[in-house]
Amino acid sequence: LDGLLSVTEAQQRLLAAFMPVKAVRISLAHTVGRVLAEGVFSPMDLPPFPNSTVDGFAVRTRDVEPASRERPVLLEVVGDIAAGQVVELTVESGQAARIMTGAPLPTGADGVVAVEETDFNVRQPGFSAPERVNIYRPVQPGGNVRPRGQDVRGGQQLIEAGVRLRPQDVALLAMIGIARVAVFRRPRVALLSTGDELVPVGEPLQPGKIFDSNAQLLAALVEQAGGIPLKLGIAADKAESVEKLLDRAAEARADLILSSAGVSVGAFDFVRSVVEKNGRLDFWRVNMRPGKPLAFGQYRKVPFIGLPGNPVSAYAGFEVFVRPALMRLSGIKAWNRPIQKVQAAEPLESDGRESYLRGVVQLENGQLSARLTGHQGSGNLFSLVQANALLIVPSGVKSLPVGAEVDAWMLDLLSPGK
Ligand code: AMP
Ligand code: MG
Repeated sequence: LDGLLSVTEAQQRLLAAFMPVKAVRISLAHTVGRVLAEGVFSPMDLPPFPNSTVDGFAVRTRDVEPASRERPVLLEVVGDIAAGQVVELTVESGQAARIMTGAPLPTGADGVVAVEETDFNVRQPGFSAPERVNIYRPVQPGGNVRPRGQDVRGGQQLIEAGVRLRPQDVALLAMIGIARVAVFRRPRVALLSTGDELVPVGEPLQPGKIFDSNAQLLAALVEQAGGIPLKLGIAADKAESVEKLLDRAAEARADLILSSAGVSVGAFDFVRSVVEKNGRLDFWRVNMRPGKPLAFGQYRKVPFIGLPGNPVSAYAGFEVFVRPALMRLSGIKAWNRPIQKVQAAEPLESDGRESYLRGVVQLENGQLSARLTGHQGSGNLFSLVQANALLIVPSGVKSLPVGAEVDAWMLDLLSPGK
C-alpha cells in the first residue's frame, strides 16, 4: 500500500473499479457525441433501389451502342421519372424515359445517358420531357446507375456498440430509418474543491485567497469527455464541510466523485479521514511527475478519486487516471489516446519519475519537433495553456538529449479547436 506504484499499475488497479453505465433510448437528433450501446445492423440495402446518378435518359444500353454526335440514335420518350416517384413503365427497345438524379431506374433500362450527351440538354425544372430524344453517345450497362446495395447490404453490421457517434454515423442511422437509438447515459461526475484559500470565480478576492480554478478545469474536462459535471463547490478545510459535500455527491447519484487538493499527507488532510470514515481509501504514491499523490477509493459505494491541488497536477492526474476511467464508464470499447512520436528540439530533464512535461509540438523542416513551454512548476497553469502536448519522459530516464524520440500526448486532439 505504501510502495511507489508505476503509472501503468495504478491505472490498471483504478480501471478495475469501473463498469459502463446503463443504456437509455433517445431520439436520433440528440445522439452526436453519445456512445452507442447496441450494435446496429442494417434492415435494408443502401441504396434501397437502383437509381440514376445524373439527370438524363434511362435507356437499354444495347440500343445506343452505335450512337455518336454525327449519327445519333433517336429514341421515343415513354416516361418522365422525377426523384421520389415510382413510374410503372417498362422501357422497351427503341424507347427511353427521362429520369432525374436519385430517381428509380425503370424496368427494362440498364443505363442512363446524361442530358449533356443528348439533344435535350435541359435541366431547369418545368420543362416537360420531349417526345423524342437524340442520343449522342453510348453508355455501358450499369452506366450512371447506383445499383441497389452498392453501399450497404441488408443484415450487414454498420456500427459497433461502444463507439462514440460522429455526425456521419448519425446520418447513416437516419438513412436506415432509426429514429431512436440505445446509447449509454452520460456519466455523472461530482466535483468538489477543498481549501480555505479558495474563492469561487465571480466573488471578490480577499488577501491571501485564490480563485478556485480546479472546479472550472475539471468541469470542462468532464464535459468535453462526454460526462455531466455536478458542481458541488468548495469544502473548507474542516471535516464537517468535506463530509457535507461528499454526502451531497452520493445523494446526487454520481458515478464518480472527483475532488482536488486536501489529500497531501500533512496536518490538513481532511478528505482522507472523511472518506475513510464513510467508505474506503487507498492512498497511492504514483511514480509520476507532476501529481505523485493520488487518493482512490469509494465514498458510500461511489468510486472516489482525489486529485492533487496544484492545477497542472490536477490536469495531469485527470489525463492519466480520470479520462480512461470516464471512457470505461461511458461504455467506450476501444479508447486510444492520440499519441505522436516527436523529436526533442531541446534537452528534456526529469527526476526519474514518469514525467509529463508541457510542450509545443510543431512541424519544423518536415519533422514534428517538441519544445518546452515556460516554467514546469505544477502551479503554473499558463505554461499548460501555452502547450499543445504533454511530452512523456519514461520512468527511469533522467534526461533526453536533443534529437531523441519522445511520445507526445496531443492535447488539442482530445479537446479539438486550437
Ligand atoms: P493542497 O493539496 O491542498 O496542499 O493544495 C496544493 C496547492 O494547490 C495549493 O497551492 C493550493 O492553493 C492549490 N489549490 C488547491 N485547490 C485549488 C483549486 N481548486 N484551484 C486552484 N488551486 C488550488
Ligand atoms: Mg489545501
